[in-house]
Amino acid sequence: MYAKVIIDISHENIDRLFTYRLTVKAAVGQRVLVPFGKGNRLTEGFILDITETAPDLQGHELKNIIKVCEDYAVLDREQIMLAEWIRETYHCTLAQSLRLMIPAQMRGMRISEKKLRAVKIKDGVDADEYLRSLRTKNGKIRSQGAYDTVEFLMQTDNAVLVSDITEIIPTCSSAVVKRLIDLGILEVSMQTVYRRPQTVKKTSGKKPELTKEQKTVLEQILSEEKGTFLIHGVTGSGKTEVYMSVIEDLVSKGKGAIVLVPEISLTPQTVARFTGRFGKRVAVLHSRLSAGERFDEWRRIRVGEVDVVVGARSGVFAPVHDLGAIIIDEEHENAYASEKNPRYNAVEVAQKRCKIASAKLILGSATPSVTTYFRAKLGKYKLLEMKERVNALPLPAVETVDMRAEFVSGNNSIFSRRLVEKLKKCIENGEQAILFLNRRGFSSAVSCRNCGYVWKCDSCDVSMTYHKFDRKMKCHYCGEEADIPKLCPSCKKAYIKYVGIGTQQIEEEIKKILPQVSCIRMDADTTKKKDAHMNILSEFASGKAQILIGTQMIAKGLDFPNVTLVCAVSVDAMLAMPDFRGYERTFELLTQVAGRAGRAGKEGSVILQTNIPDHPVLTFAQNHDYKGFYEYTIKNRLENMYPPYSVFVRVLFSSEAEETAHTESVRFANSVYERMCSLLSAKGADLNEILYIYAMPAPIKRIQNKHRRHVLIKLARTKNTHELINTVYDYDKDVFDSEISVEINPNDML
Ligand code: ADP
Ligand code: ZN
Repeated sequence: MYAKVIIDISHENIDRLFTYRLTVKAAVGQRVLVPFGKGNRLTEGFILDITETAPDLQGHELKNIIKVCEDYAVLDREQIMLAEWIRETYHCTLAQSLRLMIPAQMRGMRISEKKLRAVKIKDGVDADEYLRSLRTKNGKIRSQGAYDTVEFLMQTDNAVLVSDITEIIPTCSSAVVKRLIDLGILEVSMQTVYRRPQTVKKTSGKKPELTKEQKTVLEQILSEEKGTFLIHGVTGSGKTEVYMSVIEDLVSKGKGAIVLVPEISLTPQTVARFTGRFGKRVAVLHSRLSAGERFDEWRRIRVGEVDVVVGARSGVFAPVHDLGAIIIDEEHENAYASEKNPRYNAVEVAQKRCKIASAKLILGSATPSVTTYFRAKLGKYKLLEMKERVNALPLPAVETVDMRAEFVSGNNSIFSRRLVEKLKKCIENGEQAILFLNRRGFSSAVSCRNCGYVWKCDSCDVSMTYHKFDRKMKCHYCGEEADIPKLCPSCKKAYIKYVGIGTQQIEEEIKKILPQVSCIRMDADTTKKKDAHMNILSEFASGKAQILIGTQMIAKGLDFPNVTLVCAVSVDAMLAMPDFRGYERTFELLTQVAGRAGRAGKEGSVILQTNIPDHPVLTFAQNHDYKGFYEYTIKNRLENMYPPYSVFVRVLFSSEAEETAHTESVRFANSVYERMCSLLSAKGADLNEILYIYAMPAPIKRIQNKHRRHVLIKLARTKNTHELINTVYDYDKDVFDSEISVEINPNDML
């Protein structure tokens, strides 16, 4: 027998199958150790195929597989197919795409199962006799700990973890157990335990009677075996409840499901709802698990102890058997696109995986991405709508406040009078409020009032952000910190001002106007520690804090019944985003934050503070008018030939030498243009499908001392797009010194 192996080294030159003699017992999907290269270094690899016929050796000697890494297959056939598709689609090596399917620490055997001591009554021991021996003549018990422990263990034939016994039996301790072992009463064995991630308290698993809308949507999803569905449902319309009902149906048929949420550590409430309903048969996969927790959750899924995986982006690769559906909540979120190689998009991967497994793909959002909605309208996805909130609760009233008018009438605070008034009322009523701003820190920039000098990071071409509480300026790109300046280095004057606002400033202002109210801040600065998200949210949920201040991480998916007031403290920076998706992002974010208010019968209200109150996007957000927003945007996209009518390809060059990045990007632009032209000519297609190719400096010209240039390519979407994109990757890597990365429709092009 012969095994075809992918070596777990990501290099283009060895991105192919190597044949080994199969001298150990192993199956397709198993990881093995093989001698590799001239020095026959022992290297890990994946068996992707097993054949009986010897390959044509052409004089080479076949090497033997040395041993298996684990005694089970880490990949199934569907995952292997998926990995091959990922290699083709995202232009990475197969080793890179296979790595996505397993816990990272498994490679290099850096993680192992956790084993704990367990005990049971030794075979042949007469436990009753032993208990009798512990009693004195007058019926007293001599060693209560030993007595209770043995009596407890008599109830079962299985070994019980020592840690469990000491917890259950108050008189038992590890010393007691040790003595019983020494006496030969108990025998020890080692038992594998799973390290489980901490989750917030389970909510009741009781299933509510579905609303009419929920039932209709559910029926449509259940009536089809496979396909892609888009649930466009307003916030609070009960989408999650529909997801759970779909999963119940699948589980009853012995199938499993994957639920993706944008960043799960931010939505512990969702996890709690799923564990409430499906109990232990839920696994959780997200970026904040410890290596051991991730490994163990993965193993529980793999051995089939789990029906439902709730995970962030990479959860799409979870080894669920008999996959019945993948559900992607908040499908419009950026977080589904990986920013590292392989630059996969979890929504696309899910679509492929569902196709391979004949499963359903269910996308859900209150604000579907323009591209997804476009496809749904074309009939590629089945569009399902949920227009009403559960119990017909009204959507919150949204009002915009013109901050220019505030300024003119003498209020130069970051809070409008309207906001302060509503905030006070909300607090008086014992209700809660959320204040949202898309920037952490205290101010967005530090500048000189006299000459306009702006402090920038030494290593990056971005302005420093003032962090008042740490008394530092920080670079949000590389993390560099600097002391607060006393003098302007340019004009030597001491007129320092802080421009723009950040979440810290909001917190400080709140403390000034409502000193007795407890507030809590959630942003990248306050959530560095493990479980910090959960703890902050629990504190808010418990009512200990009445005001939650935060960045976009609080905008999404949270369900706090007592929140009646939500304010976006400044929406203008979002609208001014230098990206064709700026409006889409703003509308999304505002709809999401607004959706946090008034979720449980109490009337909610939302305030948007802005200098441009008449902006159409704000009007659509105010009216909860997704469709109006969509029509407005798609028209604009067509006029400007933006996606979905086109595709952006961005090739980023970064190098310590500015000249290198410059000349290489120009050279690349010329050569890719030639490649594209010859492809199109060969097909007799119109060269105008290439809308443009520019080489230019990236908007952020330098990050961590690397100069950045990019080639921007805009292609009309046609049947040739796929092949045109392939030509971008088709360059000789050895002739470039810059670091090059190719991104297709990236989340940003900064
Ligand atoms: P979405 O995911 O669309 O934002 P959820 O599923 O979170 O909506 O539902 C919003 C709230 O309504 C949740 O607190 C949920 O428990 C509750 N809910 C959902 N469906 C029902 C129902 N049929 N009856 C009663 N309450 C429901
Ligand atoms: Zn920096």
